[in-house]
Amino acid sequence: MLADPYDAILLDLDGVLYRWPEPVPGAAEGVAALRKAGKRIAFVTNNSSRTPAQVVERLASVGVDAKPEEVVTSALATATILAERGTRFAFVIGEEGLLKALTDAGIRIVNASSDDVDAVVIGFDRGADYTKLKDASVLVERGVALVASNADPSFPAARGESWPGAGALLAAIETTTGTRGEVFGKPEAPLFERALASAGGGRPLVVGDRLDTDIAGASRLGWDSALVLTGDARPEDVESSPWKPTFVVGDLSGLV
Ligand SMILES: [Mg+2]
Repeated sequence: MLADPYDAILLDLDGVLYRWPEPVPGAAEGVAALRKAGKRIAFVTNNSSRTPAQVVERLASVGVDAKPEEVVTSALATATILAERGTRFAFVIGEEGLLKALTDAGIRIVNASSDDVDAVVIGFDRGADYTKLKDASVLVERGVALVASNADPSFPAARGESWPGAGALLAAIETTTGTRGEVFGKPEAPLFERALASAGGGRPLVVGDRLDTDIAGASRLGWDSALVLTGDARPEDVESSPWKPTFVVGDLSGLV
């Protein structure tokens, strides 16, 4: 089977396993077949709003069996890296997944009036408002580091709607301050590297539905990738994309 040469399969969620709230047909069976073939799996998502336990629940509701330790979110990658850098106090625009990942990593969440702020951390936040964007911008103007769990321009909501994503919130602060944020999620390397480590290393195959995040990130790292056609990308998009997947498959069953 196509997945044979690989040790670790790094699976994107949205557009690969589900198009929320609908399961992607064949996805649950595909994951089960990969497991049966002895592949180690990481469920890799740019969405920072959910905790691994919440992601596992969501996967279970579309029939995909997963364990929290197999889930790697951009929030976890962000928290790990910031903790390694010695970040102690963060001002955060983000939801529970990001807040919990940061606090679990020993980073304290502070408000904008705190004297000690080492980083402004941006993630997807449905409660973001002008005050939060203003406070974040003022901190960045004072020289506090600006980082983001991911820079997805939009969030794929139900009924095919696109809502402002973490990248849209980040852009508001970048536009205000003229400072570019550092991004840890796809297509940047940190999230992929953490996902491979969590899957035990070896030779990775990145599986995703987006050329500009999943496939771009894999190619930059020199890793093989499989584009599935159950989400964002259409077959004709591959032609015009600067990022070429190693394989194009209709859905996950194409890997097995
Ligand atoms: Mg996706």
